[in-house]
Amino acid sequence: MTHSLLSFEKSSPGKRSWILPKSEVPTYDPSESLSPDLIRKKRLDLPELSEIDVIRHYTGLSAKNHGVDSGFYPLGSCTMKYNPKINEELAAMPQIKRSHPLWPDEISQEVLKVFYDLENALMEITGMDRFTLQPAAGAHGELTALLIVKAYFEHQGETNRTKVLVPASAHGTNPASAAMAGFETITVNCDPEGLVDLAHLKTLLGPDVAALMLTNPNTLGLFEKEIRLIADLVHECGGLLYYDGANLNAIMGLVRPGDMGFDLVHLNLHKTFATPHGGGGPGAGPVGVKSALADYLPVPLVECRSGAYVWDYDRPLSIGKVLGFYGNFQVLVKALAYIKSLGGAGLTQASKDAILNANYLRASLSPYFDIPYNRPCMHEFVLSAINLKPYGIRALDVAKRLIDFGYHPPTIYFPLIVEEAMMIEPTETESKETLDDFIATMIQIVEEAKNNPRLLTEAPHQAPIGRADEAQAARSPRLIWSEPSP
Ligand SMILES: *Cc1c(COP(=O)(O)O)cnc(C)c1O
Repeated sequence: MTHSLLSFEKSSPGKRSWILPKSEVPTYDPSESLSPDLIRKKRLDLPELSEIDVIRHYTGLSAKNHGVDSGFYPLGSCTMKYNPKINEELAAMPQIKRSHPLWPDEISQEVLKVFYDLENALMEITGMDRFTLQPAAGAHGELTALLIVKAYFEHQGETNRTKVLVPASAHGTNPASAAMAGFETITVNCDPEGLVDLAHLKTLLGPDVAALMLTNPNTLGLFEKEIRLIADLVHECGGLLYYDGANLNAIMGLVRPGDMGFDLVHLNLHKTFATPHGGGGPGAGPVGVKSALADYLPVPLVECRSGAYVWDYDRPLSIGKVLGFYGNFQVLVKALAYIKSLGGAGLTQASKDAILNANYLRASLSPYFDIPYNRPCMHEFVLSAINLKPYGIRALDVAKRLIDFGYHPPTIYFPLIVEEAMMIEPTETESKETLDDFIATMIQIVEEAKNNPRLLTEAPHQAPIGRADEAQAARSPRLIWSEPSP
């Protein structure tokens, strides 16, 4: 294995990936239009590589990454399921790819129909009355929804509603979004079953509460059984109920946030609906609301008027725009293609299989780990590696050792309410064979922890990079390349 990882380190003077014919037109002289202080004094120091060097460099880098297409990726809450390639192909069609948001509505009818159809599909899946498809990610959807909550209460003259309640098990983006929207966040405790502590919730609800942010199933993968009661309690105090629908993979076709009593919801299309999550690629976090809140949605919304689709900007109560143009269009195309190709029955089956796979793993692993809330789960579950503590082993060590076996580790140390947490989400797209191999590996790792713990504490042994010094990496990261001293 070569140690030069960067293209700069592989550079050798004079190498080229191209040979261009001599230009037949006068070359541009920057000094004619730029002031001298803006002109580069020295040639830009770019790596010099042949075409095959470049290809090998990037192919090599891609092979160092673990992706859903290369192996099992049970990263809890992220829904790293396989995304069918047909959806990518559809989103890459020239008619889609070359469409432009500045085209007039009359020549963009098919494009507008994608927005219209997707909005309607999401309304049906969630039981909400209207959607904006603009937000670019889950957290962005949360912020958008909370700005709607804020605008709604301001319009009602209820400016005293300054608090947003968030359960202890919530995803970290929930309190962050509430704070960004200018609310004070208050934590609601979990009860011994891992669900919202109703007694605690009752003490917090009052005329100063704007909303309760909830995800159901919660981040322990457990369904909040008392959701109707929770909804009634929140509504009785005049507050709104917000659904963090990032993990819709657990409930499609089974239960709908709108029917559970939620007023607002965001979805992560880049988890459940055919766009991969993670890696910094584009996402989409549509926000759906009940009709009483529809006037506050971002502009524009797509409307169908006498058979023609139009963008409607005439919405005086709208919170305004939250993204350039209309959203990440190709992500939306993939979601619509996925929804249409599976249909209602297919989506329901996907969720049922996701739940079955999670419960199969939970039941198979429960003799070997501590499972604090060990009862039927939804699409994911949380186990604890606390039973390996006597051997000097932590969840982090188990996670690192899994890399040696070709698995992406589960989410660790989240949710915070479980010590040595490992949050496992297998998704519906994995086969029983894959799950059985993973179970066998986890059992082997538990044996190793007892008999040869260094195998774990020094893992990974097979990865391009071994155990990184995480504190050092966080405190003094090396973010730019500098010429190695000779
Ligand atoms: C992933 C996730 C989010 C945030 O979504 P991003 O697109 O990463 O911002 C919020 N809540 C839950 C429960 C999630 O799993």
